[in-house]
Amino acid sequence: MSAPSVITIDGPAGAGKSTLGALLARRLGYLFFDTGVMYRALAWAVLRSAIDPENSEAVAALARDLDIQVLPPGSATDGRPYTVLVDGVDVTWELRRPDVEQIVSIAARHPAARAVMRERQRAIGRRGRVVMVGRDIGSIVMPDAPLKIYLDASIDERARRRTREIQQRGGSADLQHIRDDIIRRDSLDRHVSAPAADACIIFSDGLSPEQVVDIVIARIDESGGDSQDTRAYERAKNPDSAGT
Ligand code: C5P
Repeated sequence: MSAPSVITIDGPAGAGKSTLGALLARRLGYLFFDTGVMYRALAWAVLRSAIDPENSEAVAALARDLDIQVLPPGSATDGRPYTVLVDGVDVTWELRRPDVEQIVSIAARHPAARAVMRERQRAIGRRGRVVMVGRDIGSIVMPDAPLKIYLDASIDERARRRTREIQQRGGSADLQHIRDDIIRRDSLDRHVSAPAADACIIFSDGLSPEQVVDIVIARIDESGGDSQDTRAYERAKNPDSAGT
C-alpha cells in the first residue's frame, strides 16, 4: 500500500478525530499531529498571563512568543498520547482542564493568532509522513494534502464519547453538561470548521474506531495513494445504530 504523504482529519469536537488519527498514524508508521493541542496551549498561556481571550492583539502577540513542543510520551506511564511543553512546562493534562476548554475557541478565533499557528502547522506538514488532525487542516493549512478526511458524528454520540473519555481518565463528567459544551464550541468553531470541498466525509455513529480506520485504509488501497482518486465524498452512516 502506498499511502499519501499527508493525511488530514478535520471535524467537530468529540467526533473521534484524535482516536482515528492516532490509530491511523500507528498503522502507517506516520507522525500523529493533533493541532488542537496548539490552540489549547495558547488558551492555557492566555489564562497564565491573565490576558483577555477576546483581545486579538494580546492573544496574537502571545502566540508569536509561545514555545510549544509536542513530543513523544517518553517514559510517562499515565496513558498520554504525547507530551506537550509550553515554554518548557509540561502541560499535557492541564490542557484538558475545563477552564482551558471554556476559552480555547475564543482564543482560537483571532486571525492573527491563527496565522502564527497555521504557519507552524504547515512546517510540520511539509515534512510529510504525517496524519494531521484539526478543524481547518484540509481546507486551509494543507489544501494540497492528497487525502482529506472529515469525520463527523451526531451530537449525542459525540457527547457520549467525550464523557466516556473523561471517565476513563478518572475524571467526573456529566453527559448533559458535556453535550451543552459541545454545542457551545460547535457554534464558536463554525467559522473554522467547514470540510474541504474534496474531503472524504465519514459519519461515525455506530462505527468503532477500528471500523473507521478500516474505511480510511480501504480508501487509500482503492486509490493506490493517488491524490486524484482520493478526492471523493463518502458518507459511511449506519442508520440502524442511531441513538445507541
Ligand atoms: O480538537 P480539540 O478539541 O482539542 O480543539 C480545541 C479547540 O481548538 C477547538 O474547539 C477549536 O476552537 C480550536 N482548533 C482550531 N483549529 C484547529 C484545531 C483546534 O481552531 N485546527
